[in-house]
Amino acid sequence: MLFEPIRYSVIVPMFNEQEVIVETYRRLKCVMDTLGEPYELLLVNDGSRDRTAEIVNGIIENDANVKMISFARNFGHQVAISAGMDHAQGQAVVVIDADLQDPPEVIVSMIGKWKEGYDVVYGKRVERRGETWFKRVTAHGFYRLLKALTSVDIPVDTGDFRLIDRKVCDVLKSLTERNRYVRGLVSWVGFRQTSVEYIREERWAGETKYPLGKMLRFALDAITSFSYKPLKLAGYLGFTLSAVSFLYLMIIMYQKLFTDTTITGWASIVAVNLFFNGVMLIILGIIGEYIGRIYDESKGRPLYIIRDKSGYGAGTGARGN
Ligand code: UDP
Ligand code: MG
Repeated sequence: MLFEPIRYSVIVPMFNEQEVIVETYRRLKCVMDTLGEPYELLLVNDGSRDRTAEIVNGIIENDANVKMISFARNFGHQVAISAGMDHAQGQAVVVIDADLQDPPEVIVSMIGKWKEGYDVVYGKRVERRGETWFKRVTAHGFYRLLKALTSVDIPVDTGDFRLIDRKVCDVLKSLTERNRYVRGLVSWVGFRQTSVEYIREERWAGETKYPLGKMLRFALDAITSFSYKPLKLAGYLGFTLSAVSFLYLMIIMYQKLFTDTTITGWASIVAVNLFFNGVMLIILGIIGEYIGRIYDESKGRPLYIIRDKSGYGAGTGARGN
């Protein structure tokens, strides 16, 4: 069994998931054992500061199917998934959250679709349970805004819970961009894609690791990686405003030349000035978002730094990458 090639890899990004990880392991193991083919559970410890690594090391001692890669610090969810893909050996690679919001049992139907010949099987959330109305409303709006802005067909209401074939994984590994929106990249590469529907459950334990700030960054990364329409906004706005100002200029000239009205209004000048300065700064901010990302890319730093790996036999503890 040990020397048989690994058929399935399950990547689980983890950031401070000490409350859930034992249960997640138990559920995943149950599902994967029923398949009767060699698999690996690849846990990516994204710089957890709690007991996650310790607990996983305990699991690894008793289960040769489990491996862990630990980052030197927190690099973010999308980077953790990418690292998992870099290290996965399976013919089919599944990405799943650590908090059991994505039910591991759905993996079986994903594998079914994969065996039918699909290269990407993504989980589509038909219902979200146990999430705040704020999260549901913003997520709903975000997926639709992204769809309106990009020309890549990124399916709405799908997360990173998905199965990809080895050849898709290899293509994704070759994409070096740093601000990664993995689910967008998966759509972008193409291949034969399909979905399975599932109900997104409540987080099993612990708290969300996506506070508002991280959520905003994530949304900005998604939009800037797949669309430059926000940059065009400046052009459209410029045209509209020039046309309106020109009309207004005509009216003022008419008043000055052909009527007796005195033209007054320092208050309106100040108001208009403040408004347009605001518009300018917003546009500069948008340009700044793109420039910042170009800057990040140009530095060419590695996407992540590995502190240690466990579950890889004799090489345990070696520096990765
Ligand atoms: N996660 C991570 N690094 C981070 C934030 C999150 O690896 O910086 C992992 C987290 O452990 C979980 C998954 O990403 O497995 C999704 O996070 P979470 O469930 O907190 O997000 P939500 O479901 O609330 O959007
Ligand atoms: Mg979650």
